Amino acid sequence: MTVAIVLYTSDLRVNDHPPLRAALSSAGEVVPLFVRDSRIEAAGFGAPNRQAFLADCLADLDAGLRARGGRLIVRSGDPVAAVAAVAGESDADEVHMAAGASAYARSREARLRDALEREGRRLYVHEGVVTAVAPGELTPAGSDHFAVFTPYFRRWAALPPRALSAAPRHVPVPEGIASQALPARGAVRGVSDLLARGGEAEGRELLTRWLSGGIRQYGQIHDDLAADATSRLSPHLHFGTVSATEIVRRAQQRGGLGAAAFVRQICWRDFHYQVLAARPDAAAADYRSRHDHWRTERDAGEEIQAWRDGRTGYPLIDAAMRQLRQEGWMHNRARLLTASFLTKTLYVDWRIGARHFLDLLVDGDIANNQLNWQWAAGTGTDTRPNRVLNPLLQARRFDPDGAYVRRWVPELAGLSVPYVHQPWKLSGPDRAAIDYPEPLVDLTDALGRFRRSRGIG
Ligand SMILES: Cc1cc2nc3c(=O)[nH]c(=O)nc-3n(C[C@H](O)[C@H](O)[C@H](O)COP(=O)(O)OP(=O)(O)OC[C@H]3O[C@@H](n4cnc5c(N)ncnc54)[C@H](O)[C@@H]3O)c2cc1C
Repeated sequence: MTVAIVLYTSDLRVNDHPPLRAALSSAGEVVPLFVRDSRIEAAGFGAPNRQAFLADCLADLDAGLRARGGRLIVRSGDPVAAVAAVAGESDADEVHMAAGASAYARSREARLRDALEREGRRLYVHEGVVTAVAPGELTPAGSDHFAVFTPYFRRWAALPPRALSAAPRHVPVPEGIASQALPARGAVRGVSDLLARGGEAEGRELLTRWLSGGIRQYGQIHDDLAADATSRLSPHLHFGTVSATEIVRRAQQRGGLGAAAFVRQICWRDFHYQVLAARPDAAAADYRSRHDHWRTERDAGEEIQAWRDGRTGYPLIDAAMRQLRQEGWMHNRARLLTASFLTKTLYVDWRIGARHFLDLLVDGDIANNQLNWQWAAGTGTDTRPNRVLNPLLQARRFDPDGAYVRRWVPELAGLSVPYVHQPWKLSGPDRAAIDYPEPLVDLTDALGRFRRSRGIG
């Protein structure tokens, strides 16, 4: 009986999984394998919220495979060594996996290919599993990637999504391949109190609910912070419990203006993946340098900590930072605001903010986190790199009655507009009754500092 390994990474599902289908069509048995990568954890990317969500995903993937007569094999350590070991134990001829976009994923693929070929085995890397459109599939004339979103979107939207790959009925797994115990969510320390549940079943249910309800209004209210009217599919996309292609296809089938606006956001995800695949250094270095001399922990340590703690004295910023800590997730508009506040209002290095987000975000991923941070800092792909979001104007537009602030900043829960957004305007005794800090900076001074630093007067 021939055997093929399916190496799972950011694609923890049985539905629409081309590597699993390919392995099943070329071998009699498959070994579905997940390796808990010690390097990812050692590099500080194993944030508790993602570890907990991952535990749910692995448990559910195992259940999905068991329902088909199989099971998930879990190992830990260096994925190349672990795959080579499992290939030896199962005498597998082939390994199938989804292509990754980061420099780390690419080097892992190369190392794995070498190690397998030395043993006479083959690695098949499948594109378009993690994203709807593979990085590099669309390129503009004269470049290896799109640096501006709109022309990318035009080409992306004109490309029909690939056909979906149905979940297999049977997944025969060879006997006797040892597996470590699945990690348990409950064993992870430091998890956000309100963290969402992971897993393919959960993700599929969320998608179905979203397509039959919330998506209709998405175009009009996705930026309304208190309405919380976005899909919340991002952690499922991050762990691949639901496929981006399936989301796009089903949203397009549903149709309507809301679905069109939603699909456009999925394209932003692919856009960032194709930038990172072409420019892997953008994970840590400015995509487009603006010659910033950012403030860092050394000269702005207390301000950075106040930002992290949600105690900047700007209620909308603080609400967002507290949502991040409590849910391990933050609304997109809030991410834009808090990132603009850190990089432009406080003029702090975007990498410091990106790191904090990666420490907490359940959907934290290198492509979308780092490149969105760069977008907000003006060192990325924003065509208006010097725009600064004013938290008071943003509050008026996106939290007009203060409900979002009241939800996350209990000290201000008794206040109405305008005080909920500007508690410093309260009269002396009312102000003194609230344990909430004064604004960390004056917005006009901060804007002046930013503009001078960027050499725009
Ligand atoms: C500073 C900053 C950091 C971010 N970090 C991450 C991150 O680490 N991981 C992550 O997945 N997203 C990140 N985003 C993008 C976006 O905020 C989240 O994807 C979105 O808030 C997730 O919520 P949702 O699933 O309800 O989104 P919806 O509004 O329902 O959108 C659907 C999907 O489209 C994609 N999407 C939406 N907006 C964006 C965007 N701006 N860029 C890329 N993809 C997008 C996501 O996959 C999302 O799940 C970041 C944005 C900013 C401004």
